[in-house]
Amino acid sequence: MIRQIVQIGNSALREIANAVEESNIASKEIQNLVDDLIETMRDANGAGLASTQIAAPYRICVIEVNKNPRYPYKPDIPLTVLINPKVTFLTKDRINVYEGCLSVPNLRGRVDRCPEILIEGFDREGKTLSFVAKGISAGTFQHELDHLDGLVFTDRMNDASSLTTIDEFEVNHEEEFKQQVISIVKNYGS
Ligand code: ZN
Repeated sequence: MIRQIVQIGNSALREIANAVEESNIASKEIQNLVDDLIETMRDANGAGLASTQIAAPYRICVIEVNKNPRYPYKPDIPLTVLINPKVTFLTKDRINVYEGCLSVPNLRGRVDRCPEILIEGFDREGKTLSFVAKGISAGTFQHELDHLDGLVFTDRMNDASSLTTIDEFEVNHEEEFKQQVISIVKNYGS
């Protein structure tokens, strides 16, 4: 079912989501929530969606990038369902990249992200997940995990002057950012 995505200002986005009991992952409630997150993300052309964005208080997020029209420069990421995800930074490097959010309509802004991270958690079958994400894709995962702690990307901005509407981004910043993405992909492999 396509769910309503709450927008910045809604207190649901500021909730710290609850861990899912391992024994509860297979339950209808959690499986339906995962299905709704995937369907809602795809309907909105999002690169990811976290449960707090549909006002469901569980530590679950979904990520998928497949030639995304909202982010044509993003490297693809196959559909990934993360339950109780945990992130570990693997480098002191940071990349400063534009992000947007379905809960912050029509805006982009620059955020510092760690370009090499370890993600651990569970998939929707309750199997343990452990993988490394790099570059732009690492930023996408950090963005979604932040939502589970009640954070949105604007909280992570060091310099609010990089905020831009999508129209202004496309005219004034997209070309430069595409070049930056090419060099990030070259340096970090994603
Ligand atoms: Zn978001």
